[in-house]
Amino acid sequence: MNEKNDSLAGAGVNTRLSHIGNSPLDFHGFVNPPVVHASTVLFPNAKAMETKSQKYTYGTRGTPTTDALCEAIDALEGSAGTILVPSGLAAVTVPFLAFLSAGDHALIVDSVYFPTRHFCDTMLKRLGVTVEYYDPMIGAGIEGLIKPNTRLVHTEAPGSNTFEMQDIRAISAVAHRHGCVVTMDNTWATPLYFKPLDHGVDVSIHAATKYPSGHSDILMGTVSANAAHWDRLLDAHGALGICGAPDDSYQILRGLRTMGIRLERHQESTLNIARWLEERDDVARVLHPALPSFPGHDLWKRDFTGSSGIFSFVLKAESPEQFKPKAHAFLDALSIFGLGWSWGGFESLAVHVGLSDRRICKAPSEGPVIRLQIGLEDVVDLRKDIEAGFAAAKAV
Ligand SMILES: *Cc1c(COP(=O)(O)O)cnc(C)c1O
Repeated sequence: MNEKNDSLAGAGVNTRLSHIGNSPLDFHGFVNPPVVHASTVLFPNAKAMETKSQKYTYGTRGTPTTDALCEAIDALEGSAGTILVPSGLAAVTVPFLAFLSAGDHALIVDSVYFPTRHFCDTMLKRLGVTVEYYDPMIGAGIEGLIKPNTRLVHTEAPGSNTFEMQDIRAISAVAHRHGCVVTMDNTWATPLYFKPLDHGVDVSIHAATKYPSGHSDILMGTVSANAAHWDRLLDAHGALGICGAPDDSYQILRGLRTMGIRLERHQESTLNIARWLEERDDVARVLHPALPSFPGHDLWKRDFTGSSGIFSFVLKAESPEQFKPKAHAFLDALSIFGLGWSWGGFESLAVHVGLSDRRICKAPSEGPVIRLQIGLEDVVDLRKDIEAGFAAAKAV
């Protein structure tokens, strides 16, 4: 395995995605690893059982299938270790439970994925953790919010639904000066377009449900830590018993093989549509960090090596009373875009974004925010579908 990883050092990203993780010769040459279904693992004798000296000891502690996926993710993230959990949301909550204790203070970015906020405002609060939300554009100014008991700074860039960028390097440097752990939800970029640990983050979080899965049919999360934070993360994973399932792990590993070329296509089609939307009278603003018009564009350009397939635009409306009827008319006129949550699959999706949870990042005032996930369909067909949406919204 290590020999193979050495031979992949310096190889291009698609070469690495094709070969990281399992080693076919470990399993009689079959290209893909076997799916190991397991609770019990047998030991050859009582001594081996007592000392737990063998590699695999029980299903919750990993199998060759989950190890293959974890090794692949470690290779992409540059992490010391990766845990698998049954959803992207659990990939946020497990590290929070690993690193936070009663009496601690946590700083959470205000443009955070809403269910993360819900966990903070309910369960973390009940467990005695104080949570404070901060402006995504705060940068090194986060120092002003750090208290003696601040233990964790959570970042997500771009932010959910409105795609605010963050100066991850500046925030991490300040947080580390004050002994805080820095976590990042990196789902949007995947480790292909941003590598959190290279920018000072300690714990990188992914909803593998999105691009690694790629087919809208698997829920899974990955959490990858640097060497200083790996033992504590692994301990919490073991204590909680929230582990990844073998079939799902297999499917995510399978998804990784094509993730590079899928992302290239998502990126290209999305930029095409985002630029086209910017030119249209129906649109007040396009919220996509790779557009030079976007306020956080410079940070994106400095730190990211690509952009993925999800962004939002503000549909023009004359008054707030028109926001909802226009958004609904737009969505209901779509036939290729599906109306549904999540993203990262092969098919296009649209949602009317709710932003009433935000404390600091104000919702755009020019109209409703529509989030688009651009799938692998042909762009001309997607444009036609969006045109139908605009015509319906205009008629409101
Ligand atoms: C979807 C998403 C999650 C949660 O993933 P699930 O597998 O749906 O629980 C977490 N963070 C971000 C940024 C997401 O978009």
